[in-house]
Amino acid sequence: MAYLTLRGINKIYPNGFHAVHDFNMEIEKGEFIVFVGSSGCGKSTTLRMIAGLENISKGEFYIDGEKVNDKGPRERGVAMVFQNYALYPHMSVYDNLAFGLMLQGVDDDVIERRVNSTAKILGLTDYLDRLPRELSGGQRQRVAVGRAIIRKVDIFLMDEPLSNLDAKQRVTMRSEITQIHRETGATTIYVTHDQTEAMTMADRIVVMKDGYIQQIGTPYDLYFNPVNMFVAGFIGEPPMNFIEAKLNKGRLELGQNVIDLTHIADAEVLEKYEGGEVVFGFRPEAVKAVLGSAAGRAYRIKCFANLVELLGDNTNVYVNFDGMSSILKVDPHNSPAMGSSFEFDIPWETVYLFDKHTEKRIKLRKE
Ligand code: ADP
Repeated sequence: MAYLTLRGINKIYPNGFHAVHDFNMEIEKGEFIVFVGSSGCGKSTTLRMIAGLENISKGEFYIDGEKVNDKGPRERGVAMVFQNYALYPHMSVYDNLAFGLMLQGVDDDVIERRVNSTAKILGLTDYLDRLPRELSGGQRQRVAVGRAIIRKVDIFLMDEPLSNLDAKQRVTMRSEITQIHRETGATTIYVTHDQTEAMTMADRIVVMKDGYIQQIGTPYDLYFNPVNMFVAGFIGEPPMNFIEAKLNKGRLELGQNVIDLTHIADAEVLEKYEGGEVVFGFRPEAVKAVLGSAAGRAYRIKCFANLVELLGDNTNVYVNFDGMSSILKVDPHNSPAMGSSFEFDIPWETVYLFDKHTEKRIKLRKE
């Protein structure tokens, strides 16, 4: 059995709302797991059931082989970091860090040693006498993380810990949390609605929607092998472009642009969907704007550049073609001009196809 086992976990709140459906997962010791999804999809509820702050309506939760459904947060050996820091406002940073240990009756000199070493890891040594209100958002968040790591527990649970920070602080804290994870080796479950956090921090990501797991996988898996349109659209920024079209003799006819799927899909697969509606998907960053060069193994699309946004490292081009719109992420040195007509190439190997009705990915080749 894995270190953490969630088996058929469900949450039905007292008002009857079914917030989490049949959550199944095994987590190995030391893994960094991120639960990601839009607001309200059940991430926090699942985390709180793991923490013991919310009872499990149905299903079993095991830590290291032991069923802990009926155990409280302390007995589970977990430490939790919340979005709103939950610091004691009238206590110094030192006391905020020390408080949990004091409650446990740990000796003063041990506490002092642990506070000092934790403060060092988090760069808080010079701030130990300050009150939370005398700190920046990033420093407060560090204290909150410090309160969790000082307890030397085996499992960290973090609920949107960076959402009150500005964009720059978030990037810094993101790498600090990853670093702390590497140093402590604690199994970590981290909740966020931010796909960039999920992609950059996780060993494995759990994508959730409406209380259901959509997919569990490494960042690489989710990006390159999404199982459905939700995951494909959620992971990646800007999101994957989706074009709805009818399959006619293995081809998608989009006005003057034709996408001949017989190049990339098995006949058997195309036959199954012949005459039906499918969704063609491609990532903004997979395309190449073509300003005169020759095409390779790619679909060439004629389009019109509605809006061109230079972001520095790349340029987003909002295009229209045959009544459809898409975003392309292109090299700023080789970008079409706003209001111009141009062509772009979608390499064959970067194309996705989905069933319009089930929204599931259609495998192009039969294995
Ligand atoms: P997330 O963390 O993904 O934003 P939550 O787990 O907080 O989502 O909430 C999942 C769903 O459960 C939401 O629709 C939310 O409104 C609902 N919910 C959360 N807490 C309660 C509660 N105490 N009673 C009833 N419904 C709740």
